[in-house]
Amino acid sequence: FHVVCYEPIALSVTIGCIKTALSRSVSYSVGALSNVLNGAFNAAGITIGLSDVGEIDLSGSASIATADAALRSIVPVPYYSEGFGELRGQNAFLGNPTGADLQTLKLIADAAKLHAGASAGRYLWFFVPDDVPSRFSGVVPEIGDARGFVFKNFEGAIGGQTMADSYAILAHELGHALGLFHPDDDRIGNQLPNHLKASLGQPVTAEPATNTEPAINPTPRALDPKNVGLIMQRDPLNMMGYWPIFKEQTFLRKNQWDAVRAVASAI
Ligand SMILES: [Zn+2]
Repeated sequence: FHVVCYEPIALSVTIGCIKTALSRSVSYSVGALSNVLNGAFNAAGITIGLSDVGEIDLSGSASIATADAALRSIVPVPYYSEGFGELRGQNAFLGNPTGADLQTLKLIADAAKLHAGASAGRYLWFFVPDDVPSRFSGVVPEIGDARGFVFKNFEGAIGGQTMADSYAILAHELGHALGLFHPDDDRIGNQLPNHLKASLGQPVTAEPATNTEPAINPTPRALDPKNVGLIMQRDPLNMMGYWPIFKEQTFLRKNQWDAVRAVASAI
């Protein structure tokens, strides 16, 4: 374990729900989300002050409706969407996670921010399409960007997931918004110790709970090769990994604490 002495950092984060012609209202718990965010970032000496702007209604804007519609695309190849199974040739929300779709998301998020009149260090938005499944659970347009999204709220326990999983996704996205990469990212530098990163892609074994960490119970999805490649055997519940039960991903490690602090202290 690590014992560190950090100056406290207070970070202001805005949460809201973007309602457009093609996305729907979401009921979320600000208190529960605050607990998840603070549970993850307090270890780094960062306190998250969460302010809720509620639902931002952009459904009357023609330009936003056009942008919103552009986020629906035909998925051309087999693609697995958490909770929806394989998408093949279906309409899905977010066809391209790296190009024009991210520019569109930025445009919509900035319109919502302007509408809310909010001013915060980082913004987390529920933006849940009401007509098609989303290929992705959440996204930050680029590492360090102020705008984070979650596209699923898991109401109705799709795939056994619940709202708590959407809060865990937002914590993961806030990690990206504060400069963190995935464990397998070549840009990761010193964000994780070598012995953890070296355990990427190895099968995760069941482990009992310790006095500091919960038990690890690999599920069939956790053992699936497409997930295993992004999970560290030695730290499978790391918040920036791809553990398939999102709400079980709650940890950041010492080097990640330092990395998020470097960004958060400059906001
Ligand atoms: Zn991610």
